[in-house]
Amino acid sequence: MKNYIKHHPWSIIEEGFVPEYNQISESIFSLGNGMFGQRANFEEQYSGESLQGNYVAGVYYPDKTRVGWWKNGYPEYFAKVLNAANWIGIHISFEDEALDLATCEVEHFRRELNMKEGWLKREFTAKMPSGKRVKVEATRICSMARTKVGALSYQVTPLNFSGVARIVPFVDFDVINADSNYDEKFWNEQHRKASHDFSYVVASTKKTDFWVATGMKFNISGGFSMESAQEFEREKYVEVAVTGRVEEGKPLTIEKYAANISSMYFAKTQLVEVCEKEVLEAAQVGFDKLLLEHKEAWAAKWQMSDIVIDGDVSAQQGIRFNIFQLNQTYTGEDERLNIGPKGFTGEKYGGSTYWDTEAYCLAFYLATSDKQVARNLVLYRYKHLQKAIENAQKLGFTNGAALYPMVTMNGEECHNEWEITFEEIHRNGAIAYAIYDYINYHGDEDYLIDYGLEVLIAISRFWAQRVHWSKQKGQYVMHGVTGPNEYENNVNNNWYTSKIALWTLQYTLEGLQKYKGTTQLNELFQKLNFKEAETEKWQHILDNMYLGYDEKRGVFLQQDGFLDKELMPVSDIPAGQRPINQNWSWDRILRSCFIKQADTLQGIYLFEDEFDLETIERNFDFYEPMTVHESSLSPCVHAILASKLGRKEKAYEMYLRTARLDLDDYNNDTEDGCHTTSMAGTWMAFAKGFAGMRVRNGELYFSPYLPDHWDGYSFKIKFRERNLTIKATKGHVTIMNESADDLGIYLFDKKYELAGNGKIDAPMN
Ligand code: BGC
Repeated sequence: MKNYIKHHPWSIIEEGFVPEYNQISESIFSLGNGMFGQRANFEEQYSGESLQGNYVAGVYYPDKTRVGWWKNGYPEYFAKVLNAANWIGIHISFEDEALDLATCEVEHFRRELNMKEGWLKREFTAKMPSGKRVKVEATRICSMARTKVGALSYQVTPLNFSGVARIVPFVDFDVINADSNYDEKFWNEQHRKASHDFSYVVASTKKTDFWVATGMKFNISGGFSMESAQEFEREKYVEVAVTGRVEEGKPLTIEKYAANISSMYFAKTQLVEVCEKEVLEAAQVGFDKLLLEHKEAWAAKWQMSDIVIDGDVSAQQGIRFNIFQLNQTYTGEDERLNIGPKGFTGEKYGGSTYWDTEAYCLAFYLATSDKQVARNLVLYRYKHLQKAIENAQKLGFTNGAALYPMVTMNGEECHNEWEITFEEIHRNGAIAYAIYDYINYHGDEDYLIDYGLEVLIAISRFWAQRVHWSKQKGQYVMHGVTGPNEYENNVNNNWYTSKIALWTLQYTLEGLQKYKGTTQLNELFQKLNFKEAETEKWQHILDNMYLGYDEKRGVFLQQDGFLDKELMPVSDIPAGQRPINQNWSWDRILRSCFIKQADTLQGIYLFEDEFDLETIERNFDFYEPMTVHESSLSPCVHAILASKLGRKEKAYEMYLRTARLDLDDYNNDTEDGCHTTSMAGTWMAFAKGFAGMRVRNGELYFSPYLPDHWDGYSFKIKFRERNLTIKATKGHVTIMNESADDLGIYLFDKKYELAGNGKIDAPMN
């Protein structure tokens, strides 16, 4: 754990330059706008450790799979989130001496990410090896108002010298992916041009043939008298080197405008034209106005999604950082895009979509965005249905059964560890549940018949084939699975997986019942070659499925044989041996009782209304002490359950583990990128935990409390076209319906009618 980020309600601030933290900061201070994202790399040359990263939404490379022992059914490739052109770069030298912080004595250094307005600013004063001292102030944005455009303003002041400066803005597509399996470069150049008016490189990905044009234009103003400008090109690289005189104490400012245009949105033949138009328009508008538009776009985002915490700056900064990252990762205009575990902040994990989207991220976008945003997330899987059916076929399933991939970019599986690829099938359940979640939240009932049922039928078909009848038990069982707890593989009867499979069957049956006899359903049956007799088997499974339960302890069994393990709490793990995944052999982890992330408790959380409080409590008290929370997705679920159980301290402890996970680099891995999907978990821990927010049968419930460490909080949600503000202070809760129509809301299980612009004021424990 680190503690170098200054606490501030709206900004992330780093003071002083610590090269060992640079890659962590590059992740934390990343910028994005849903269409591309840029790590907080330096504009000028930097020869120290750095992970260069510009990621263009939806553009990936299918890197050939690398595994020790090939297994039938493995995908051929692992989709990589692709590092694209460096568009921020400006090499600077004075009298042939490069400005490079790795070789300088850094006298002052400050980085600030202003989350309210969405800009990154870096200031430093440094002494170069020759003794020249310079001051730099660089601000940049990935424009939220023009999502193809990035812009920066870079001001340099020579503090103790005058002389010749060389300023070289460039676009460099000659980049690598740090996680390339075979050290290959993934881009081929298509064409390029270096020109003072507009420079660009168009490159295409090998195999997938995505084309991206990245272009730039710049201007230099202030204390600089230009002597020459030289255009230079080489493969995948263009620059314009400007030479001139600088004067001691006189700042010069370079404004650089860039755009990333991909063939996801434009014909390959149009890319340069569109890129040029975007870049020249941005340059015409100028940096200050671009910044203004950008700030306005961010203000609108915060208007819908801000959470205010009173009395705890560190918590305030933490939650806003999570919201900021989520908002800059996914903006929901395009149903082909999704939310990768690292967002636009790093390459690791590859692929863009895990079950993280449905199980964690969806809740945030449901409540803080327009309906279309969440709808696009759900539609994403509808669009991938055919691939999910093919994926299941590869594994031997038939009759339109679908197994969605564990990791994907385009619907194809690209994860290749057998215990996860083939066995971590609970992801199918999360995808089914998301359909319910979306409809329940937004009341978009038509979605079920228009799209949802087709996916649900395919997933139900999968579950019906994946279980088998055990003569021994006289019940259906599900063997050879990996639950959410990846520290157990190939287990039988993982309670969570079986439970969510049953839920899917039930929900699908209810959907079929609802539309029984309608033309639309009959047409769907024809399209899917669906015979109603299939539902008889589903019902039989529902009536006869084995779900492990221990009578003595009154807990559900994570899997068969779990109680035979040597059960012990995490507190018994000797000091210095955690995280166990970095200290223990895999064999030892698998045999231990320790749980990576919520598993049985994931099911309790999802289906809480089926259980009484005592049952929830018994399961929580049994499983939580054995949980090491070595997935960032784990603490939030525990925070929600602990809140429900009135365990304020535990809830707060769990909440803190997600809220500042990256800011404080809890897991020592933020340098690879932020844990973007778990940030949605932080939001869930807040809204569903502290505020006790639920949507039941399309109605909104709250049961808020205030963590002891806070003086108050307030947050906004959008629910079925109404804007609500929920505010909690010591002993008091207020809920305001800012829209001019009526809404029924349950507060502490009592129903209030909240007429337009109305307010509930109630006491709170
Ligand atoms: C977790 C998975 C998750 C993945 C990506 C893993 O560590 O165990 O549940 O889907 O990370 O976030």
